[in-house]
Amino acid sequence: MWQYYHSVSLDVDKCKGCTNCIKGCPTEAIRVRNGKASIQENKCIDCGECIRVCPNNAKYASTDGFEKLREFKFKVALTAPAFYAQFREGITRENIMNALIKIGFDEVYEVPLAAEEVSLAIREHLEKNKGIRPLISSACPVVLRLIQTRFPELIKNIIPIKPPTEVAARRAKEVIIKTYGCKEEEIGVFFISPCPAKVAFTKQPIGMSKSHINGVLSMAGIYGEVLKNLDDGNFKSIFKSSCGIGINWGRSGGESLAIARP
Ligand code: SF4
Ligand code: SF4
Repeated sequence: MWQYYHSVSLDVDKCKGCTNCIKGCPTEAIRVRNGKASIQENKCIDCGECIRVCPNNAKYASTDGFEKLREFKFKVALTAPAFYAQFREGITRENIMNALIKIGFDEVYEVPLAAEEVSLAIREHLEKNKGIRPLISSACPVVLRLIQTRFPELIKNIIPIKPPTEVAARRAKEVIIKTYGCKEEEIGVFFISPCPAKVAFTKQPIGMSKSHINGVLSMAGIYGEVLKNLDDGNFKSIFKSSCGIGINWGRSGGESLAIARP
């Protein structure tokens, strides 16, 4: 039987059986019996809502550890708009990138840059497929898994274009191979994720055989280290920077705005 990979898990010892998480779960995947919660694996879409609402920190997301960086010769961090948004006003993208280099990465690729490329591809797809509506973005792994498990009749409405994180990882590897002559297996691309569903998607991608992302680090786990190492240094990336349109993908309605932009 097909098994879904899940990043959201339960620490049974911490669970007090309060049922808070049942109320928040969008797929009714949680049961509480004999004072302890359990997650029904075939229903869970790794949205992380139960992590947010549990007052006892009994739910958690599994991510890769920082030590996984040691498996690769060349390490790339993928940054999302949500990561930039964690820092106070005045802290620039460059300050954050410098910090990532100080803590062990060799390069930083901005996911918003890939979002700009994806926006153009989606616009073209919408133009060519005017007869198919609604069309559903493939960017959110929670939405993809929800459709896969609950609404398979909508699979045909998903836009068949890879999400920005995947495009970013692919592009980063292409440029590094071209610039430094590295072998693909020597390059480790790590997404700094705000969301447990990205971990599940990377381990078990939907609509592709293998992810180009080699590891997922939690935003919460790396934030403190980056904060301690913020730097005005003069690191220059071999990659282009996002022009800002892709950064807006992190806002409500930002993806639609980017697609509609002339
Ligand atoms: S991660 Fe989301 S879908 Fe899974 S059990 Fe928690 S709330 Fe329900
Ligand atoms: S909210 Fe937390 S403590 Fe309450 S039942 Fe769910 S997992 Fe257990």
